[in-house]
Amino acid sequence: MPTAPFRFFDVRVVRVSRLGPTMVRITFGGDLAGFVSGGRDQRLKLFLPLPGQEAPVVPSGEDWYAGWRALDSSVRPHMRSYTVCGQRRDPEEFDVDFALHGDGGPASRWAARARPGDRAAVLGPSVEDNGGIDFRPPSDTGWLLLTADETALPAVAGILSWLPAGVPVRAWIEVPHPEDERPLPTAADAEVTWLAGGARGSVLDAVRAASLPAGVPYAWIAGESSAVRALRRHLVGARGFDRRRVEFTGYWRKGASEEDLLAEAARA
Ligand SMILES: Cc1cc2nc3c(=O)[nH]c(=O)nc-3n(C[C@H](O)[C@H](O)[C@H](O)COP(=O)(O)OP(=O)(O)OC[C@H]3O[C@@H](n4cnc5c(N)ncnc54)[C@H](O)[C@@H]3O)c2cc1C
Repeated sequence: MPTAPFRFFDVRVVRVSRLGPTMVRITFGGDLAGFVSGGRDQRLKLFLPLPGQEAPVVPSGEDWYAGWRALDSSVRPHMRSYTVCGQRRDPEEFDVDFALHGDGGPASRWAARARPGDRAAVLGPSVEDNGGIDFRPPSDTGWLLLTADETALPAVAGILSWLPAGVPVRAWIEVPHPEDERPLPTAADAEVTWLAGGARGSVLDAVRAASLPAGVPYAWIAGESSAVRALRRHLVGARGFDRRRVEFTGYWRKGASEEDLLAEAARA
């Protein structure tokens, strides 16, 4: 598993496009010659200015995380994880799809108000095979199981567009509104089930009720932390998936900001 080479890039909003009631796509530009997305669920860290700042203060030093933590809280930028969902050259651009949520998070608020010219910074990948990609099915994989809520939809879109022709995929995607559904271009042999407007956790019920293909599976599951943990338990416990073949990531946790989650991880 490669470790990151990541580095900081100053970026500006180039375009804002509404994808549906929940999602807004922000296209970032800047000096991105050294920015190299590996596709799939490629993650980056986004740094946002505080109210009154034109641009975020970017941490310096060998250990950027220690540098970020050492910044005074009056200038320390909000740091959030997002997915690179498309990169283009000439002009240098990449897209991030933000799920807007009504829970007052700074990233969701920033995205809802973003305008061309707004400044931000990202800690992004500088080589294609980097530690910010979790989707790595072993070579003997027979079929893929993907599940996501709206925050992990950009990653599933990236995974589907990256897969070669003919790979069997079963995917379940939970979104708040039917109008959040969108085409997910892929060469894979993908059966995508949209779960729109239901209760949180509807993916678990849908997977529980599904009859799954035979063959060696690899599962990639992401979304709200407790929903992801419950689904992993189901796959490993009730369905007999080998736990090493279930890649699972809590993309957010109900009632906790990303700062809360980082503080909890630091205490542990
Ligand atoms: C590897 C990775 C990749 C990610 N990629 C994306 C992506 O491409 N697009 C994307 O939209 N998100 C993505 N996320 C999730 C995103 O980082 C979180 O949703 C983050 O909490 C949003 O920051 P915020 O400032 O809006 O809210 P925070 O300040 O972090 O949280 C404030 C409150 O809002 C709640 N909250 C956070 N997100 C949601 C939500 N979606 N719905 C309802 N309540 C919520 C929290 O529980 C908390 O109570 C990703 C996360 C990870 C770990």
